[in-house]
Amino acid sequence: SLVAGVVAVQGDVEEHANAIERAARARDRDVTVHEIRESGIVPDCDLLAMPGGESTTISRLVHGDGIAPEIRAHVEAGKPLLATCAGLIVASSDAADDRVDELGLLDVTVERNAFGRQKDSFEAPLSVDGLGDEPYPAVFIRAPAIDEVDDASVLASWDDRPVAVRQGSVVGTSFHPELTPDSRIHELTFFDTDDASVPPQSP
Ligand code: GLN
Repeated sequence: SLVAGVVAVQGDVEEHANAIERAARARDRDVTVHEIRESGIVPDCDLLAMPGGESTTISRLVHGDGIAPEIRAHVEAGKPLLATCAGLIVASSDAADDRVDELGLLDVTVERNAFGRQKDSFEAPLSVDGLGDEPYPAVFIRAPAIDEVDDASVLASWDDRPVAVRQGSVVGTSFHPELTPDSRIHELTFFDTDDASVPPQSP
């Protein structure tokens, strides 16, 4: 069975765990999900999610708990990471905020809270590269926009601003794919990879 980890220092952890299980079911894979609150677990994970929440808090805790270097090593090994909303901000290379110590896993600049305040949360039908014709129902909550994209490639935009990017085994979204029943973003990140980092189902 695959081992998945959800960085669980803060944010909507349970929702990501459920979404990973839905995605695995859709692809006929078995998965065990661990919630990561301390170092030492990430090295055992085949795939990782870093959820939404509050990016300054998540940044402080992943660095303080020694999880940050393990996440970097995971990505350097070519294993998949899905970073959503606050997770995207922490995974970026520049969040323009001193309180965020970026992991630099996605070569992008982000603007926090670019789509308005909490009360301006909205859902938008997105056309996403690699997901076919059916629009993806994307939930935005005080979402960051992606401003400059260097080595990353844009998978989706909203209002003329990139909101989903991929770079190697890392996918980052401004929105919350864990909050809708549609598991296609998790499937795309974890199972539609070019490399063989996610071990095939054993017979
Ligand atoms: N606005 C939050 C931040 O900048 C992110 C919001 C979210 O993850 N829903 O950290």
